[in-house]
Amino acid sequence: MNEPTTGADARTDCSEALLRVYEYLDGELGPDDCAKIQAHLDECGPCLKEYDLDTTLKSLIKRSCGSEQAPETLRLTIMSRISTTVIRVDRG
Ligand SMILES: [Zn+2]
Repeated sequence: MNEPTTGADARTDCSEALLRVYEYLDGELGPDDCAKIQAHLDECGPCLKEYDLDTTLKSLIKRSCGSEQAPETLRLTIMSRISTTVIRVDRG
């Protein structure tokens, strides 16, 4: 679980990215972290594709990294999907 990450450009791994998406949907992430998630999703298709999250999340984050808030219903849908996904990722 606690693998050391060194260097500012260390890749965000998939489970961390998902957790950050969660935080992001909760409105806890700033623009920098938002950009990191976006970058991860851009270069790591499989981690979201597998859970059918990619299209929804990518478009949502792309929009919301500006200033738009995610619509409540969409936010809840994605959060419930992610919570399932994170559990599965954690179990390997
Ligand atoms: Zn990934």
